[in-house]
Amino acid sequence: MPRVLDPQLRRALAERIRYYRELGIYDFYRRAVRAPEAELSPTPTAVELQLEQREEMTPRAVIAAPLPTEDLFEATSPKPETGVNDPARALRLIREDLGDCTRCPLHQQGRKQIVFGVGNPRAELMFIGEAPGADEDAQGEPFVGRAGQLLNNMIRAMGLRREDVYIANIIKCRPPGNRTPERDECETCSPFLLRQIAVINPKAIVALGAVAAKTLLAINAPMSDMRGQWYDFRGTRLAVTYHPAFLLRDPRQKKEAWKDLQMVMKELGMAVPGKGVE
Ligand code: URA
Repeated sequence: MPRVLDPQLRRALAERIRYYRELGIYDFYRRAVRAPEAELSPTPTAVELQLEQREEMTPRAVIAAPLPTEDLFEATSPKPETGVNDPARALRLIREDLGDCTRCPLHQQGRKQIVFGVGNPRAELMFIGEAPGADEDAQGEPFVGRAGQLLNNMIRAMGLRREDVYIANIIKCRPPGNRTPERDECETCSPFLLRQIAVINPKAIVALGAVAAKTLLAINAPMSDMRGQWYDFRGTRLAVTYHPAFLLRDPRQKKEAWKDLQMVMKELGMAVPGKGVE
């Protein structure tokens, strides 16, 4: 029988796994704790094998899912925003098209509302996080909790205001317990994000954290490899930096994040101040 974890321990473990994910560590191996008599029979049961496989496979399977490459029906079913020149209106049309979305199971898993995205519809810079948390779910806006306050500081350190940029997430509904978005949730939701990106047409995108980076780029690489370089994301420059929630847990990495943001500022032709992220 699988053991039922104490909820507090379960939360602490989930938090720790999230922390490791931010560091780019994805594979966890379950070492079976066996009763002494079981040690005499080293063959694991089918249930044990399944558990081991799931724990090893899930994070990679979730994260390296490539986003849909194109809409095969584009020619026959143009999107409502097609041909709309005003990006604010085009974004409203995408939001209307999304509706009270029931396309993936998250709509039945406790989400309060859809968190579409916020900011300047003509932004030159777009930040993309992972998924709404509890605060975002309550307020209907991305990055409004503690991580959001830090993201605001990062934006301010760049000499910009929150309302100058556009902020969105890979998925638009809060996963229960803030778990990692599942592959099918990303695949179902991301076409809307891609449409938002196409309408806003930013000069640069910053992927916040490993989940956003790996989902957008469809690569499995540690953060240390992904940071500090430019990627081509469907014709738009994309850089990767640490998720603000990770920086809250490990503030020593703020200076590294600041290097990433300086790289972005250079790309956007902005003056690069020496001051970092507070
Ligand atoms: N973390 C995210 O990835 N997105 C949010 O909107 C808030 C926290």
